[in-house]
Amino acid sequence: DEKMLVENEVEVIGQLKAVFGYNQFRGYQEEIISNVLAGKNTFVIMPTGAGKSLCYQLPAIMTKGTAIVISPLIALMKNQVDQLNALGVNAQFLNSTLTKVEINKVKKETLSGDIKLLYVAPESLTKEENIEFLKKGNISFVAIDEAHCISEWGHDFRPEYRKIKNIIDQLGPGLPIIALTATATPKVQIDIQKNLHMEEAALFKSSFNRKNLYYEVRKKHNTKKQLIKYVLDNKGKSGIVYCLSRKKVEEIAELLKVNGIKALPYHAGLDASIRMNNQDAFLNEDADVIVATIAFGMGIDKPDVRYVIHYDAPKSLEGYYQETGRAGRDGLEGNCIMFYTYEDILKLEKFNKDKSVTERDNAKHLLQEMAAYAESSVCRRKQLLHYFGETVEKDCGFCDNCIKPKEKFEAQDEVVLAVKAVMQTEERFDASHLSLVLAGMENEYVKSYNHNELEVFGKGKDQTIEYWNSLYRQIVLQELLEKDIDNFGILKATEKGLAYLENPVPLLFSKDHDFSGETSEEEIE
Ligand code: ADP
Ligand code: ZN
Repeated sequence: DEKMLVENEVEVIGQLKAVFGYNQFRGYQEEIISNVLAGKNTFVIMPTGAGKSLCYQLPAIMTKGTAIVISPLIALMKNQVDQLNALGVNAQFLNSTLTKVEINKVKKETLSGDIKLLYVAPESLTKEENIEFLKKGNISFVAIDEAHCISEWGHDFRPEYRKIKNIIDQLGPGLPIIALTATATPKVQIDIQKNLHMEEAALFKSSFNRKNLYYEVRKKHNTKKQLIKYVLDNKGKSGIVYCLSRKKVEEIAELLKVNGIKALPYHAGLDASIRMNNQDAFLNEDADVIVATIAFGMGIDKPDVRYVIHYDAPKSLEGYYQETGRAGRDGLEGNCIMFYTYEDILKLEKFNKDKSVTERDNAKHLLQEMAAYAESSVCRRKQLLHYFGETVEKDCGFCDNCIKPKEKFEAQDEVVLAVKAVMQTEERFDASHLSLVLAGMENEYVKSYNHNELEVFGKGKDQTIEYWNSLYRQIVLQELLEKDIDNFGILKATEKGLAYLENPVPLLFSKDHDFSGETSEEEIE
């Protein structure tokens, strides 16, 4: 019952040239586009800047009727609509910023089939009157951009996104869907597939490795001095400095300015006109540095950003990866530096106290992953890619931990002990519980499972709980253990891990960084 949306596939490359002016496809674009044109469901996971938009824009232009594009941000929608209009493509959006007259025009042109791409915010899509109207249109397929917003386990959950599937079903039976995202951990990926009933859909996932990006984490100490020095050393180059609060954005932008740097602030609290102005100044190189909250960057396509600095630790590794991904899009130099202190993690945790239990637990989990990444002395790229479900055999040689490795220690006996602890507790507990057991902590929870009577209990009491937690993280990276993604981090042995218990060999691990200690006066707000 799958019918081709267009017949002539040879046309595709011709359209790429004629409409977009590009000579060839990038990565999986061609395969993705043929899959969409074949009327099949498609799931795309590609890093920022890889060219996801084209994957639905081109098929939309080539098919009869109107493609619906669901996109979470009005600014992002407007950007794309403007770009498409400039290419001579009839694209429009339907969202809360339109007047009655404009809405009527959009509706008329949709019904007449003139609009090739109709961008809709999820809030607008869920409105009954819009559903009724869209039912009457000739819809070719539906694109769901930023599909990770569907998942509660992601960093950007939007409840309305979970209603999309039901609405698509109302619009027409078997309407093809293409879902796209730049950030999906394996857990989020499965969640998206389940929610959209797309378990069977073709999945196109390209590597998240950005070989030209250099990753570094620095202790948050004399941060302002470090920042000014870095920016001055890189004068004339484009850079983004991310801060957590609007207040901090203003302060840091001012600080850079008085130090002779062309820096401008950007956050959601600024007037739209000022925001637009500052963004343009950055894009046109009138300003070198933009100091911003995470409100900045979505849909911004500046290829020569030479550095991304996180003045404060971000809320999740997903966010971190997306933000750092804005550096070096042209494939040239891109430096990603994060200033880190555990204090920031605690501060961020406080922001979550009014959330629901599930949301709070998830936010906390994301923060813990963030802290673990920052404090670990394992190759940054290895950790980041592992987080997004990619296995990396070798250290990258191009991150702070690779360039200045911490002293390694022989961990064979401890690894055996740690894996044994997993087996003796029947693969039903997470790293923090297992660490308590190994360190011999006799709390109520440990006792309630009689884990204080296990053979491994207290066998690792010479080491701290932090030591064992860090060891578990490294064992997971070695793939001797794996985290059960559906069960909040419960550790299970892999085949490799079981084999290791039988035949242990020497293994070199490294100690975590010590980022604790005094935070300089200036950091305290
Ligand atoms: P994403 O949505 O994956 O972050 P975009 O769709 O914004 O990426 O594309 C990033 C940039 O790459 C855009 O400037 C886009 O025009 C460009 N691009 C996409 N596909 C191609 C291609 N086949 N050839 C050249 N440039 C492309
Ligand atoms: Zn590395």
